[in-house]
Amino acid sequence: MANIKCFYSDRYFIDLPSDHPFPMHKYPDAASLLRASRWADRVEIIDAGLATHEDLLLVHDPEYIAAIEDQTLSGYALRKLGFPLSRALTIRSRAAVAGTVAAVQAALRDGLSINLAGGTHHSFADRGEGYCVYNDVAIAIKKYLATTSDTTVLSLDLDAHQGNGTNSILHNEPRVESVSLHVRDNYPSRKVPSTKDIGFDRYVDGKTYLQALESYLSDWHLACGTTVPPPALVIYNAGVDVHMDDRFGQMRLTDQDVAHREELVMHYVMERAGVPLVIVFGGGYNKTKAKTPLLHFRTIEASLACYFKN
Ligand SMILES: [Zn+2]
Repeated sequence: MANIKCFYSDRYFIDLPSDHPFPMHKYPDAASLLRASRWADRVEIIDAGLATHEDLLLVHDPEYIAAIEDQTLSGYALRKLGFPLSRALTIRSRAAVAGTVAAVQAALRDGLSINLAGGTHHSFADRGEGYCVYNDVAIAIKKYLATTSDTTVLSLDLDAHQGNGTNSILHNEPRVESVSLHVRDNYPSRKVPSTKDIGFDRYVDGKTYLQALESYLSDWHLACGTTVPPPALVIYNAGVDVHMDDRFGQMRLTDQDVAHREELVMHYVMERAGVPLVIVFGGGYNKTKAKTPLLHFRTIEASLACYFKN
């Protein structure tokens, strides 16, 4: 079986002010966990380079791209983004997009691929919010769909927050189905509808969450190949802010619940439906610093364990 291509770049990490809440360390730390793990010789860790201006233009307005690239974004728009502007942020954002774009190609070839970043689903065509500069998933989907006419893509967004930006960009793209499981009354206050939204009360427990997820996935699998053709690709935003000790997610999934979530996704998408899977990180802001990269690493590990099982 093929070694699984995992996209990572040292550019994914940038220095932030010491009081900044975003856990930038999680990217290199998750990569280090992967390199030190028993999966190290089953993966190929690749730097995908930088997304081109043409790639960004697939979904973003030229004025917004220029405001990021020239570091002229200011005022309310800058506060909503949540990151201080820098050349490094520009490079990092383009690198993360390139990782997801490359992961799509790799997954179509090998059945599975992972970008050790991405999932910046609060990025809109004309603005960024919630630490999301460019929308890697929307760009990767648009780029893929431009090469084919008769296939669909499923965007499976299990980050604790709803993917308002991705939905806004892709709402008029009939070949994309999107599903989101999120906390109804958490950020973003204004949701942009997915094809299917499953909203939970605040502090939803793992049992309720996992029942809803399994119900969705088993219905989806039953429909695949019977009432609808299976998608060519599933892009999975595996945000680990669903964990009970996350600072922003407002869910109560235990370690075991998160592991069960990953097993369900891998089982239904890869094993049962046999659909190529791209995994992107999404959010994760655990109260314990080392826990966030560990949770992301466990997602990768779960996918590799499923892939190499047979
Ligand atoms: Zn989130």
